[in-house]
Amino acid sequence: MIHSMQVLQQVDNKFIACLMSTKTEENGEAGGNLLVLVDQHAAHERVRLEQLIVDSYEKQQPQGSGRKKLLSSIVSPPLEITVTEEQSRLLQCYHKNLEDLGLEIIFPDNSDSLVLVGKVPLCFVQREANELRRGRSPVTKSIVEEFIREQVELLQTTGGIQGTLPLTVQKVLASQACHGAIKFNDGLSPEESYRLIEALSWCQLPFQCAHGRPSMLPLADIDHLEQEKQIKPNLAKLRKMAQAWHLFGKAERCETGQSQRASMPPCEPP
Ligand SMILES: [Zn+2]
Repeated sequence: MIHSMQVLQQVDNKFIACLMSTKTEENGEAGGNLLVLVDQHAAHERVRLEQLIVDSYEKQQPQGSGRKKLLSSIVSPPLEITVTEEQSRLLQCYHKNLEDLGLEIIFPDNSDSLVLVGKVPLCFVQREANELRRGRSPVTKSIVEEFIREQVELLQTTGGIQGTLPLTVQKVLASQACHGAIKFNDGLSPEESYRLIEALSWCQLPFQCAHGRPSMLPLADIDHLEQEKQIKPNLAKLRKMAQAWHLFGKAERCETGQSQRASMPPCEPP
Protein backbone atom coordinates (compact mmCIF):
# COMPACT_ATOMS: atom_id res chain seq x y z
CA MET A 1 0.00 0.00 0.00
CA ILE A 2 2.75 2.40 0.88
CA HIS A 3 3.96 2.60 -2.72
CA SER A 4 0.59 4.03 -3.72
CA MET A 5 1.14 7.06 -1.53
CA GLN A 6 0.46 10.35 -3.19
CA VAL A 7 1.63 13.60 -1.61
CA LEU A 8 -1.04 16.27 -1.16
CA GLN A 9 0.84 18.92 0.79
CA GLN A 10 2.72 19.78 3.94
CA VAL A 11 0.46 20.64 6.89
CA ASP A 12 1.43 23.08 9.65
CA ASN A 13 5.14 22.53 8.86
CA LYS A 14 4.90 19.25 10.76
CA PHE A 15 3.09 16.65 8.69
CA ILE A 16 2.77 15.61 5.09
CA ALA A 17 -0.79 14.85 4.08
CA CYS A 18 -0.98 11.95 1.64
CA LEU A 19 -3.51 9.74 -0.03
CA MET A 20 -2.93 6.01 0.08
CA SER A 21 -4.87 3.32 -1.72
CA THR A 22 -6.19 0.47 0.38
CA LYS A 23 -7.67 -1.27 -2.64
CA THR A 24 -5.90 -3.79 -4.79
CA GLU A 25 -5.60 -2.70 -8.42
CA GLU A 26 -8.90 -1.27 -9.44
CA ASN A 27 -8.92 -0.90 -13.23
CA GLY A 28 -5.49 0.68 -12.87
CA GLU A 29 -7.22 3.72 -11.42
CA ALA A 30 -4.86 6.22 -9.83
CA GLY A 31 -5.46 8.01 -6.56
CA GLY A 32 -5.87 6.71 -3.06
CA ASN A 33 -8.81 6.67 -0.69
CA LEU A 34 -7.12 6.76 2.70
CA LEU A 35 -6.08 10.16 4.01
CA VAL A 36 -2.92 9.82 6.13
CA LEU A 37 -0.74 12.29 7.95
CA VAL A 38 2.95 11.47 7.91
CA ASP A 39 5.07 12.86 10.76
CA GLN A 40 7.92 14.52 8.85
CA HIS A 41 10.48 14.08 11.64
CA ALA A 42 9.65 10.43 12.35
CA ALA A 43 9.63 9.64 8.62
CA HIS A 44 13.00 11.23 7.95
CA GLU A 45 14.44 9.62 11.09
CA ARG A 46 13.40 6.20 9.76
CA VAL A 47 14.88 6.87 6.32
CA ARG A 48 18.14 8.04 7.89
CA LEU A 49 18.30 5.10 10.31
CA GLU A 50 17.99 2.49 7.58
CA GLN A 51 20.70 4.22 5.53
CA LEU A 52 22.96 4.49 8.59
CA ILE A 53 22.52 0.76 9.25
CA VAL A 54 23.53 -0.08 5.68
CA ASP A 55 26.53 2.25 5.96
CA SER A 56 27.65 0.66 9.24
CA TYR A 57 28.73 -2.55 7.56
CA GLU A 58 31.89 -3.13 5.58
CA LYS A 59 31.17 -3.13 1.86
CA GLN A 60 33.65 -5.95 1.21
CA GLN A 61 32.59 -8.98 3.21
CA PRO A 62 35.23 -11.57 4.21
CA GLN A 63 35.54 -13.95 1.28
CA GLY A 64 32.90 -16.59 0.98
CA SER A 65 31.98 -16.33 4.64
CA GLY A 66 28.58 -14.75 4.12
CA ARG A 67 29.28 -12.83 7.30
CA LYS A 68 28.54 -9.18 7.68
CA LYS A 69 31.15 -7.16 9.48
CA LEU A 70 30.54 -3.86 11.23
CA LEU A 71 32.95 -1.06 10.37
CA SER A 72 35.28 -0.32 13.25
CA SER A 73 37.60 2.41 14.34
CA ILE A 74 40.84 2.28 16.34
CA VAL A 75 40.78 3.89 19.76
CA SER A 76 44.15 5.01 21.03
CA PRO A 77 45.11 4.41 23.73
CA PRO A 78 42.90 1.29 24.11
CA LEU A 79 40.01 1.56 26.55
CA GLU A 80 40.52 -0.23 29.84
CA ILE A 81 37.34 -2.06 30.78
CA THR A 82 36.88 -3.85 34.07
CA VAL A 83 35.33 -7.29 33.74
CA THR A 84 34.61 -10.29 35.92
CA GLU A 85 36.51 -13.53 35.40
CA GLU A 86 33.41 -15.10 33.82
CA GLN A 87 32.98 -12.18 31.45
CA SER A 88 36.63 -12.32 30.48
CA ARG A 89 36.37 -16.05 29.75
CA LEU A 90 33.32 -15.60 27.53
CA LEU A 91 34.85 -12.66 25.70
CA GLN A 92 37.96 -14.74 24.99
CA CYS A 93 35.94 -17.66 23.65
CA TYR A 94 33.99 -15.47 21.29
CA HIS A 95 36.51 -12.76 20.45
CA LYS A 96 36.42 -13.64 16.73
CA ASN A 97 32.65 -13.14 16.63
CA LEU A 98 33.00 -9.92 18.53
CA GLU A 99 35.40 -8.67 15.87
CA ASP A 100 32.57 -8.98 13.38
CA LEU A 101 30.69 -6.58 15.63
CA GLY A 102 33.53 -4.08 15.39
CA LEU A 103 35.01 -4.91 18.79
CA GLU A 104 38.69 -5.80 19.13
CA ILE A 105 39.58 -6.99 22.60
CA ILE A 106 43.05 -7.57 23.96
CA PHE A 107 43.49 -9.76 27.06
CA PRO A 108 46.48 -8.71 29.15
CA ASP A 109 48.51 -11.59 30.61
CA ASN A 110 48.78 -10.05 34.02
CA SER A 111 45.09 -9.47 34.73
CA ASP A 112 41.82 -11.40 34.71
CA SER A 113 39.75 -8.41 35.71
CA LEU A 114 40.69 -6.10 32.88
CA VAL A 115 40.41 -6.14 29.10
CA LEU A 116 41.73 -3.61 26.62
CA VAL A 117 39.50 -2.56 23.76
CA GLY A 118 41.51 -1.39 20.78
CA LYS A 119 38.74 -1.15 18.19
CA VAL A 120 35.08 -0.20 18.53
CA PRO A 121 32.20 0.13 16.05
CA LEU A 122 32.75 3.27 13.98
CA CYS A 123 29.43 4.83 15.02
CA PHE A 124 30.56 4.95 18.68
CA VAL A 125 33.48 7.18 17.73
CA GLN A 126 31.24 9.36 15.56
CA ARG A 127 28.82 9.69 18.46
CA GLU A 128 31.64 10.78 20.74
CA ALA A 129 32.86 13.38 18.21
CA ASN A 130 29.32 14.83 18.15
CA GLU A 131 29.12 14.94 21.92
CA LEU A 132 32.50 16.65 22.22
CA ARG A 133 31.51 19.20 19.58
CA ARG A 134 28.56 20.10 21.78
CA GLY A 135 30.87 20.57 24.75
CA ARG A 136 29.78 17.37 26.49
CA SER A 137 31.95 14.65 28.02
CA PRO A 138 33.29 11.55 26.22
CA VAL A 139 30.84 8.65 25.85
CA THR A 140 32.71 5.86 24.05
CA LYS A 141 33.85 4.08 27.19
CA SER A 142 30.39 3.90 28.76
CA ILE A 143 28.85 2.76 25.46
CA VAL A 144 31.51 0.04 25.10
CA GLU A 145 30.83 -1.11 28.68
CA GLU A 146 27.13 -1.35 27.86
CA PHE A 147 27.94 -3.17 24.61
CA ILE A 148 30.13 -5.73 26.41
CA ARG A 149 27.47 -6.27 29.09
CA GLU A 150 24.86 -6.80 26.38
CA GLN A 151 26.99 -9.28 24.45
CA VAL A 152 28.01 -11.24 27.56
CA GLU A 153 24.36 -11.49 28.59
CA LEU A 154 23.48 -12.75 25.11
CA LEU A 155 26.28 -15.32 25.23
CA GLN A 156 25.09 -16.52 28.62
CA THR A 157 21.47 -16.86 27.57
CA THR A 158 21.73 -18.01 23.96
CA GLY A 159 25.23 -19.46 23.94
CA GLY A 160 26.14 -17.79 20.67
CA ILE A 161 26.38 -14.53 18.82
CA GLN A 162 23.29 -13.32 16.99
CA GLY A 163 23.45 -12.26 13.39
CA THR A 164 21.37 -9.16 13.98
CA LEU A 165 22.54 -5.65 14.68
CA PRO A 166 23.26 -5.37 18.43
CA LEU A 167 20.87 -3.21 20.44
CA THR A 168 23.64 -0.93 21.71
CA VAL A 169 24.71 -0.16 18.14
CA GLN A 170 21.08 0.35 17.11
CA LYS A 171 20.57 2.87 19.89
CA VAL A 172 23.62 4.87 18.86
CA LEU A 173 22.46 4.88 15.24
CA ALA A 174 18.91 5.86 16.25
CA SER A 175 20.21 8.87 18.09
CA GLN A 176 22.38 9.78 15.09
CA ALA A 177 19.35 9.42 12.80
CA CYS A 178 17.27 11.66 15.06
CA HIS A 179 19.81 14.46 15.28
CA GLY A 180 20.24 14.97 11.57
CA ALA A 181 16.58 14.56 10.66
CA ILE A 182 14.07 17.15 9.44
CA LYS A 183 12.38 18.72 12.46
CA PHE A 184 8.91 20.01 13.21
CA ASN A 185 8.53 23.57 11.87
CA ASP A 186 10.93 22.92 8.98
CA GLY A 187 9.16 24.06 5.81
CA LEU A 188 9.33 21.54 2.96
CA SER A 189 8.83 22.23 -0.72
CA PRO A 190 6.45 19.89 -2.60
CA GLU A 191 9.55 18.33 -4.19
CA GLU A 192 11.17 17.69 -0.78
CA SER A 193 7.93 16.24 0.59
CA TYR A 194 7.67 13.96 -2.41
CA ARG A 195 11.27 12.76 -2.05
CA LEU A 196 10.79 12.06 1.65
CA ILE A 197 7.67 9.96 1.07
CA GLU A 198 9.35 8.14 -1.81
CA ALA A 199 12.35 7.31 0.41
CA LEU A 200 10.06 6.24 3.24
CA SER A 201 8.16 3.89 0.95
CA TRP A 202 11.37 1.94 0.29
CA CYS A 203 12.12 1.44 3.98
CA GLN A 204 11.84 -1.96 5.61
CA LEU A 205 9.90 -0.58 8.58
CA PRO A 206 8.22 2.53 7.17
CA PHE A 207 5.56 2.76 9.85
CA GLN A 208 7.79 3.61 12.78
CA CYS A 209 10.53 6.08 13.58
CA ALA A 210 13.97 5.03 14.81
CA HIS A 211 12.62 4.80 18.35
CA GLY A 212 9.51 2.78 17.48
CA ARG A 213 6.95 5.58 17.49
CA PRO A 214 4.44 5.64 14.63
CA SER A 215 5.49 7.64 11.59
CA MET A 216 2.04 8.06 10.15
CA LEU A 217 -1.58 8.22 11.14
CA PRO A 218 -4.63 7.32 9.03
CA LEU A 219 -7.28 10.02 9.31
CA ALA A 220 -10.19 8.96 7.14
CA ASP A 221 -11.29 6.72 4.34
CA ILE A 222 -12.56 9.20 1.82
CA ASP A 223 -14.75 6.68 -0.06
CA HIS A 224 -16.36 5.78 3.20
CA LEU A 225 -16.97 9.42 4.12
CA GLU A 226 -18.80 10.07 0.87
CA GLN A 227 -21.07 7.07 1.12
CA GLU A 228 -21.81 7.07 4.78
CA LYS A 229 -25.09 8.57 5.87
CA GLN A 230 -25.28 10.47 9.10
CA ILE A 231 -25.54 7.79 11.76
CA LYS A 232 -28.04 8.52 14.48
CA PRO A 233 -26.65 8.19 17.98
CA ASN A 234 -27.97 5.13 19.80
CA LEU A 235 -29.86 7.00 22.53
CA ALA A 236 -30.97 3.91 24.42
CA LYS A 237 -27.38 2.73 24.73
CA LEU A 238 -26.13 6.14 25.74
CA ARG A 239 -28.86 6.42 28.38
CA LYS A 240 -27.79 3.06 29.83
CA MET A 241 -24.16 4.17 29.88
CA ALA A 242 -25.14 7.38 31.64
CA GLN A 243 -27.13 5.44 34.23
CA ALA A 244 -24.21 3.11 34.83
CA TRP A 245 -21.98 6.10 35.24
CA HIS A 246 -24.24 7.69 37.85
CA LEU A 247 -24.55 4.42 39.73
CA PHE A 248 -20.96 3.28 39.71
CA GLY A 249 -18.92 6.26 38.60
CA LYS A 250 -17.85 9.25 40.61
CA ALA A 251 -21.22 10.99 40.25
CA GLU A 252 -20.40 13.87 42.56
CA ARG A 253 -17.61 14.99 40.21
CA CYS A 254 -19.95 14.91 37.29
CA GLU A 255 -22.38 17.42 38.77
CA THR A 256 -20.11 20.40 38.49
CA GLY A 257 -19.23 19.36 34.98
CA GLN A 258 -15.73 20.69 35.69
CA SER A 259 -13.41 17.87 36.50
CA GLN A 260 -14.55 15.15 34.18
CA ARG A 261 -11.84 12.58 33.75
CA ALA A 262 -10.71 11.01 30.52
CA SER A 263 -11.87 7.60 31.73
CA MET A 264 -15.45 8.80 31.90
CA PRO A 265 -17.84 7.20 29.42
CA PRO A 266 -19.64 9.69 27.18
CA CYS A 267 -22.82 10.89 28.91
CA GLU A 268 -24.18 12.90 26.07
CA PRO A 269 -24.42 12.33 22.37
CA PRO A 270 -21.85 14.52 20.63
ZN1 LIG B 1 13.74 12.00 16.75
